[in-house]
Amino acid sequence: MKRFAYSRPTSVSDASDDAAEDGTQIIAGGTTMVDLMKIGVLEPEALVDITGLRDLERYEVGADRMRFGALAKMSTVADDPAVIDAFPALSDSLWKAASPQLRNVATLGGNILQRTRCPYFRDTAYAQCNKRNPGSGCAALDGGETGMHAIFGGSDACVAMYPGDFAQALVAFDAEVTTRGPGGTRSIPFADLHVLPGDDPHIETVLEPGEIVTEIALPMIPAMRNSFYMKARNRESYAFAAASAAVGIEMDGDTVRDVRIALGGVAATPWRATAAEESLKGGPLTEETAREAGRIAFQDAEPLEGSAYKIELGADVVAGALMTAKSRMGGE
Ligand SMILES: Cc1cc2nc3c(=O)[nH]c(=O)nc-3n(C[C@H](O)[C@H](O)[C@H](O)COP(=O)(O)OP(=O)(O)OC[C@H]3O[C@@H](n4cnc5c(N)ncnc54)[C@H](O)[C@@H]3O)c2cc1C
Ligand code: SF4
Repeated sequence: MKRFAYSRPTSVSDASDDAAEDGTQIIAGGTTMVDLMKIGVLEPEALVDITGLRDLERYEVGADRMRFGALAKMSTVADDPAVIDAFPALSDSLWKAASPQLRNVATLGGNILQRTRCPYFRDTAYAQCNKRNPGSGCAALDGGETGMHAIFGGSDACVAMYPGDFAQALVAFDAEVTTRGPGGTRSIPFADLHVLPGDDPHIETVLEPGEIVTEIALPMIPAMRNSFYMKARNRESYAFAAASAAVGIEMDGDTVRDVRIALGGVAATPWRATAAEESLKGGPLTEETAREAGRIAFQDAEPLEGSAYKIELGADVVAGALMTAKSRMGGE
């Protein structure tokens, strides 16, 4: 590993100023960052460790809003009875990610900003990777293995998949992130945080140099209470999703009043399935309508040969998640 400078500021403004320096990267739990440094994918000149910003560990489940400091740990939030009660899909999405050891260290802010698991991005023996080396080509598109690549949102330059689970619960339920950068504080709808690869896959978010995610917040939405995160995974892919869905439903008698569906393991960014949501609103939720919503969710997919299996799998996951959310409603 290359030598690097290290600082651990205790104020957000100092951390942001330090992180804005050229060649500097932010580190929180380090489970992505150290991993990528060890394998030579990232070689920062300096690391700004933000774990000294203790205020960012706080979180609360209020009557109108849930707010999570960016340094809240995955395991702490996943296990909190108030979170499980108010928004089961959020807890599910954290529970079903990584291992207990990783969840005890990894932070929510780091989780949403984790990097792709594309094997060619992670292996510096492959010269062709537009994300790692802009302009070098794409080993995946150039005849590579594409079983864990995106079928939505990819481009001619990159088909890497966004690998996280938690992000699907956030994008489905209108989350927002607050950031602090050298230019001040701003709020960003979570749906706008990640950007599609286009011609510049090395740009993954709208964050500016030195901009630190300080908080993730969600409005309380009735469909959260009847929510579920379903995840299908390949044994050989660590624990990352081959296809997943975060869903939530609000019923008015037998009629769907509100429904949220986001897809994981299939897209270049966290991906909301709005056409599938619309297909269900105002009608009944049955095995048949859930299956149809699953089909609609994947009707515009653009798979490569290796990733075509995700269409049927993903549609089944959406339908299964919807019916599980419905069955969890009990007497409602
Ligand atoms: C074996 C293995 C299996 C895994 N399986 C899963 C899985 O199934 N599902 C899943 O979702 N994840 C999985 N992960 C990923 C894991 O959840 C992430 O590595 C972790 O959540 C990252 O959090 P962290 O605090 O360690 O982030 P770090 O590694 O410290 O940082 C990650 C990235 O975010 C940036 N960053 C961190 N915090 C901030 C902030 N507040 N503001 C701005 N930038 C920031 C860093 O610069 C870095 O680019 C797995 C990881 C491993 C190693
Ligand atoms: S899919 Fe993206 S990350 Fe993977 S090799 Fe191609 S450019 Fe690199």
